[in-house]
Amino acid sequence: MRSSVTYGVVGCLIAMLAVGAAASEMAPPPAPASPGAQVAATQATEPASGHGGPTWGYAGAAGPERWAGLSRDFELCGIGAMQSPIDMSHFNGASVEPIVFDYKLSPLEIVHNGHTVQVTYAPGSGITVEGKRFELLQAHFHAPSEHSLGGRQSAMELHLVHKSAAGELAVIGVMMEVGEDNMALREFWGAMPQQAGPARVEERILINARDMLPSDTGYYRYMGSLTTPPCSEGVNWFVMRQPVSISLAQIKRFTAAVGENARPVQPVNQRFVLAPLTGQ
Ligand SMILES: [Zn+2]
Repeated sequence: MRSSVTYGVVGCLIAMLAVGAAASEMAPPPAPASPGAQVAATQATEPASGHGGPTWGYAGAAGPERWAGLSRDFELCGIGAMQSPIDMSHFNGASVEPIVFDYKLSPLEIVHNGHTVQVTYAPGSGITVEGKRFELLQAHFHAPSEHSLGGRQSAMELHLVHKSAAGELAVIGVMMEVGEDNMALREFWGAMPQQAGPARVEERILINARDMLPSDTGYYRYMGSLTTPPCSEGVNWFVMRQPVSISLAQIKRFTAAVGENARPVQPVNQRFVLAPLTGQ
């Protein structure tokens, strides 16, 4: 059932939730010391293991159901009420503003951090949404998708992670469905490290995150968390309604390197999932 709420009310609610979440975002201690600034930047959003922090993974004793017990810093993974990902089946119609994209070319910097393959983006690209600017930090991938729509997962999901000057996070999720080769990935999929290790820079390969987006950038929006420990909340999620394609060969290359790396869906609880009103 689709209920309609005015944007003003929801906007306020999101603002209130964001304030509360910003406080919890500051609560976890800094990421453990790491060999390089690039890795440190990675840890600001999706911490890697193996640098002194607790080891976590996607199966067995260090799997998602156990994350909260691995470290006190990870307790939100267990007790947080605004966790991600979620299944999106119930929506609140709202008048939502389009995202304004300001993505530029970036030389390829790619790292296999043990949990995903991540492309660290050069400074100067970002998005503006609801009057707020968020800088693009990095893009990374999950297989299968973490979010689901009406209970259905996609083959993979791309996350574009952004941060505002105030430290607020915004992540764009793009569902990836089996189909044609993804042309935007073709540029660098071959340079994907097959094992965890330090970041590699390939100056001659230029990527543009704009090419990774669907042609229609309409989105579902909700307030959630990082989908990896420490599961910090206060993350603005924008999940694209339109998927992009990815070929079986491209999926295989990723899963051979990383394996499956999707956190199961979390309870929606009292949250709104905003969807554009009909005609938007
Ligand atoms: Zn992610």
